[in-house]
Amino acid sequence: AKQGIQDKVIIITGASSGLGEATAHRLAKAGAKLVLGARREDRLQALRDAIVDQGGEAIYRVADVTDRDQVEALAQAAKEAYGRIDVLVNNAGLMPLSPLDQLKVDEWEQMVDVNIKGVLYGLASVLPTMREQHAGHIINLSSVAGHVVFPSAAVYCATKYAVKALSEGIRQEGGEEIRSTNISPGAVSTELTQTISDAETAKGVNELYEMAIDADAIARAIVYAIEQPADVDVNELIIRPTKQP
Ligand code: NDP
Repeated sequence: AKQGIQDKVIIITGASSGLGEATAHRLAKAGAKLVLGARREDRLQALRDAIVDQGGEAIYRVADVTDRDQVEALAQAAKEAYGRIDVLVNNAGLMPLSPLDQLKVDEWEQMVDVNIKGVLYGLASVLPTMREQHAGHIINLSSVAGHVVFPSAAVYCATKYAVKALSEGIRQEGGEEIRSTNISPGAVSTELTQTISDAETAKGVNELYEMAIDADAIARAIVYAIEQPADVDVNELIIRPTKQP
């Protein structure tokens, strides 16, 4: 297996903003070959251009993680461009929090589709290749919300608990070949809170997020997990703002 980050082929979903974008910048500086996916093509293009301008290597492909074919095509693009897939960062996600009584069932379904099914499609798109290579690394973005349940966050927390369970399952079944890292950020300043449609919930969350840390803090954690030697598997990282209760 390849060691470190240099020349590793790394797919990032939801790379068009926030943690995905910050992680792409960090990994590009460390010499990775990046394959960037998300829905907003203008953002992906700008990110690719910025990375290439700074001497990094990256391609992008529009990929909605709720569409299995598009996720498969993203993985295929990685293999066509670079011949292998070393790491998948399952990062795409959304957080439209609301009290259950509001029955925002469409938003519940969206969270299940993106935060859980998207992660499963990502896994399915890389697992056979990683088995062929006898090496691979899957990094899933769970959350502190995958460890504790917050008010108005039951469904979001349910999706992030699911992600944590998947990370552990991947760790167990990955055996000696596939590393599994579950990343659990606390409050991080990104566009994530903009997905909250309930005004009162948004107000509370925005107050909490006044202490939010920069997305680069999570990018550094992801770099740490990837750069470990192949026989070291960083399974779980929780990264909170020091101020977060
Ligand atoms: P952002 O909203 O800034 O980024 C989310 C990314 O996901 C965007 O690039 C968006 O791109 C992408 N995305 C959303 N829906 C889809 C879709 N259907 N298909 C493909 N991509 C999609 O939020 P963050 O960077 O904060 O979130 C990244 C991950 O980190 C999420 O899984 C989130 O739950 C998790 N997390 C974040 C925390 C925080 O405080 N920020 C805390 C704990 C966990 P586009 O719209 O272009 O498709």
